[in-house]
Amino acid sequence: MTVPILRRLADLRAQHATWIRAGEVVGVVPTMGALHAGHLSLVEAAKATCDRVIVTIFVNPRQFNSPEDLAKYPRTERADAEKLAPFDVDVVYVPDPDQIYPDGYATSVSVEGITDVLEGTFRPGHFDGVATVVAKLFLQTGAHKAFFGEKDFQQLMVVRRMARDLDIPIEVVGCPTVREDSGLAMSSRNMRLSVEALEKAGRLYPIMTGCADRLAAGETFDQIEPEARAALQAAGFGEVEYLDLRCADTLAPLQTPTRPARLLVAAWLDGVRLIDNIAVPQLSD
Ligand code: AMP
Repeated sequence: MTVPILRRLADLRAQHATWIRAGEVVGVVPTMGALHAGHLSLVEAAKATCDRVIVTIFVNPRQFNSPEDLAKYPRTERADAEKLAPFDVDVVYVPDPDQIYPDGYATSVSVEGITDVLEGTFRPGHFDGVATVVAKLFLQTGAHKAFFGEKDFQQLMVVRRMARDLDIPIEVVGCPTVREDSGLAMSSRNMRLSVEALEKAGRLYPIMTGCADRLAAGETFDQIEPEARAALQAAGFGEVEYLDLRCADTLAPLQTPTRPARLLVAAWLDGVRLIDNIAVPQLSD
């Protein structure tokens, strides 16, 4: 089965109009391509609850912090189309760049507060780029539901906040992180890791779950942090940009998981920046 690829907004809108007339529920899965099983789990979730599914593929220049990172980002449209074929999606929207940022484009969407920490500290402007393109994709696709991975936990929060604040009538659905057998969260950036580096990367998840176990047993974050950082270093990681326990609703720092909590990490390995996060079981007060 071939997947129907649309590159122009007018074509997407024409298709969308027929679905809306028929009273169908439309879902969207925004991606930057280089699809892996994590992305495909979002497609499955969309297929399960929507009559029509649009997958978008757009490598959004505005959310990259350096031209090198943008240039190195994998672009694999043909392979992506093959991976999507078995899922029977209705449209793959691969907008030409001018369909997202036409000449003279001058608008940015910026979410305050929750973007000041974690990724926001280390990737200035990143979430403005994300919020802007996602707002556009929500409006362009007119979807009723959008599917995002918990892998990018802060991004999921930013997108939810943005849609609520702008009254975009869409339900943002968060889906669990899909992992390799080692526990490594699947990511398009993993493609840039050598076999040896992938093995080292597999240490990240057990270190994180080890931290979560200790926090759930009553140790404070300050007590476990030095050993966790040392374990990452021993595993071969370079700079750890952040390793934090945060409130899952506000991203405020926590010492103990007395409310829904998330352990979040960003660390470099062989020139690749990896991020991950897990839920930490809640302690009663
Ligand atoms: P990206 O193409 O990296 O921008 O990701 C597109 C969507 O896929 C985002 O909602 C990500 O959170 C989600 N995603 C990426 N990796 C995973 C994963 N390992 N498990 C679940 N969702 C993922």
